[in-house]
Amino acid sequence: MAREYSQKAALVTGGAQGIGTAIASLLAARGYRVAVADIKPVELDRMLFIRCDISREPAVRACIGRAVKHFGRLDALVNNAGIASPDNGPVEKLALPEWNRRIGVNLTGAFLMTKHAAPHLRRTRGAIVNIASTRALQSEPNTEAYAAAKGGLVALTHALALSLGPRVRVNCISPGWIAHAAVKKKDHAQHPVGRVGRGQDVAELAAFLLSEAAGFATGQNYVVDGGMTRKMIYV
Ligand code: NAD
Repeated sequence: MAREYSQKAALVTGGAQGIGTAIASLLAARGYRVAVADIKPVELDRMLFIRCDISREPAVRACIGRAVKHFGRLDALVNNAGIASPDNGPVEKLALPEWNRRIGVNLTGAFLMTKHAAPHLRRTRGAIVNIASTRALQSEPNTEAYAAAKGGLVALTHALALSLGPRVRVNCISPGWIAHAAVKKKDHAQHPVGRVGRGQDVAELAAFLLSEAAGFATGQNYVVDGGMTRKMIYV
């Protein structure tokens, strides 16, 4: 038991699929004991699954309690879960419950997780990574709720870095287009790096930001988008 407790522990929200699974798997490969919190049940090799709706505080409190009880500690929190589709339709038709649902999951969820994880992360001098989006910085039409939530997450990151420092570092990653299935040739070609992103691209950066090698980095938003936000696109 003592040996288990000396091994670092990470909690990844939304780890049942996509970017979250890539992050959880890489952290496990790098030696963390990993818990995945998601509303969608999944069996992940050698990981603890905790069913949790991150927008509900009692569920979040129970989730953190269960992870800490299981691992005896918490060193890393990755706030990745989200309603990943940015489309919410014309603003004139955007219903308040739909706006609240997106803010509730994509922004409040990270606040709740952090609130309940903070005492444990302080103890271990841990770190947090929030997964925002390049949509925190630029937009297509009809994506107000998603953009506002992700912009809020970038701001929440620097606020938390000041409040939880110096013991806990808090950083944010803003991915561009991360594909989970095949995409067209032209979609790859429009990226300055020549391809669309993969979950692994985000996972590598998250693992670095959580590690002691990133000890001088806090409060920042790191864009990983194959260069798309640096490309001039005037027609
Ligand atoms: P995904 O939809 O494949 O996975 C999201 C996961 O979050 C799912 O497993 C889902 O069940 C879970 N989830 C949703 N609501 C939840 C809730 N209330 N409580 C707990 N879990 C919940 O999405 P993805 O593409 O892997 O994206 C992961 C994160 O990265 C999201 O925050 C998304 O906004 C962000 N992101 C994705 C992209 C992209 O191109 N894929 C780009 C930028 C940012």
